Amino acid sequence: MAATIEGATGVWEYAIGLEVHAQIVSNAKLFSGASTAFGAEPNANVSPIDAGMPGMLPVINMACIEQAVKTGLAIDGAVNAHSVFDRKNYFYPDLPQGYQISQYKQPVVSGGHLEIELEDGGTRRIGVERLHVEQDAGKSLHDRDPSSSHVDLNRSGVGLMEIVSHPDLRSPEEAATYVRKLRTILRYAGTCDGNMQEGSLRVDVNVSVRRPGGALGVRCEIKNLNSIRFLRRAIEVEASRQVGVLEAGGEIEQETRLFDVGRNVTRPMRGKEEAHDYRYFPDPDLPPLRLDRAWIDRIAASMPELPDARRARFMRDYGLSAYDAGVLVAEKENADFYEAAAEGRDKKLAANWVISELFGQLNKAGRTVDESPVGAAALGELIDLVADGAISGRIAKDVFAWMFETGKGAAAIVEEKGLRQVTDAGAIGAEIDGVMEREAAKVAEYRAGKHKLFGFFVGQVMRASGGKANPKAVNDILRAKLGG
Ligand code: MN
Repeated sequence: MAATIEGATGVWEYAIGLEVHAQIVSNAKLFSGASTAFGAEPNANVSPIDAGMPGMLPVINMACIEQAVKTGLAIDGAVNAHSVFDRKNYFYPDLPQGYQISQYKQPVVSGGHLEIELEDGGTRRIGVERLHVEQDAGKSLHDRDPSSSHVDLNRSGVGLMEIVSHPDLRSPEEAATYVRKLRTILRYAGTCDGNMQEGSLRVDVNVSVRRPGGALGVRCEIKNLNSIRFLRRAIEVEASRQVGVLEAGGEIEQETRLFDVGRNVTRPMRGKEEAHDYRYFPDPDLPPLRLDRAWIDRIAASMPELPDARRARFMRDYGLSAYDAGVLVAEKENADFYEAAAEGRDKKLAANWVISELFGQLNKAGRTVDESPVGAAALGELIDLVADGAISGRIAKDVFAWMFETGKGAAAIVEEKGLRQVTDAGAIGAEIDGVMEREAAKVAEYRAGKHKLFGFFVGQVMRASGGKANPKAVNDILRAKLGG
């Protein structure tokens, strides 16, 4: 939902664009055979190419390019049959080559878009300008030694996709929704694991403000936000800083800023570098990247089902609400679990169990669905016990909690605790007789016309049976015995 900022002189709008760096899922780096495994000993996964040794020749890892093409197709981008790797020249201690191999004027994917779901149930299409492939840099370590800094080159040369949106986002919430949606798409496509803590997904945000409907203002870029919470906060504080400057009669300088989480402010990092500062030129070690149309078509034909299609299918084939379908598909593992638990069963009932009971317990326990002590088949058995009338829906919730706690199966718990629903008319009739005897005065009132007491009797019988009596049978027999 678009949001506005109330300034002292009136209302302002946000204009937000995102540049997301997504680490490509691949075993080897973009131009070398070194491993991309996270968490290795510093400098364990470094080839002479990644270390920028002179005379080394980069060789393009086509597995990385295939991942970028998949991602481009997943966001409806145009895959370019011809693209070019450029050198982006700058000095930094964690960049031993003295340049980053990136794509500049001719990226592998042009255009694209993704749909974000808004809080009001609607959707908005956010344009993507480009997706290009580039190398990651290494990492400077300043906390290992009191007197010197160290460099870890394990990340140097790892393949990244930089996905640049148009400045179409209108609120911090929309920006957050965009990142979550992009992350979901990447994970469905299997091209990036989306792990923000490990730096697999890093967000740079361009923020500007303008009067409603006015021309875009000057933007500032805030670098390297590694959580969605910080992204939202950074946008909020940066936009209100800009409104303050503009309302005081100042001008916004285009620059790169850092978000200081502790002080909740953005501060300047450097003036915005222009493309010419980097002296881009085509990397003479790498020929232009030429992709065969038939190869691209084969990738297109092998694309997995993506979240929008899955959500639409859940609504169309399973009759789920937009909200429930959206919740289930947001993580591929959750959607897979749901489909396995719902197989051959009532789809809406299964969705309710997964969303309310399973997700509720998982949230409380701080676990993901892959770590659930109750598997999809086990949840399915519990749902069957309810559907068959063996236990009531009310008791099933307790059974589920015990399953979650002990890892035992539903049937075993029901037998062990004697929870099987009582449908036997004789047994229920005996409970009813007991209640009517104890509550003789109320029975008299009921028979004298106070029929709203019926619910009271049902409650008493249910309680007397420990919740196990079949509610429909209780109603029928009670009505017959009370008469009137
Ligand atoms: Mn980049």
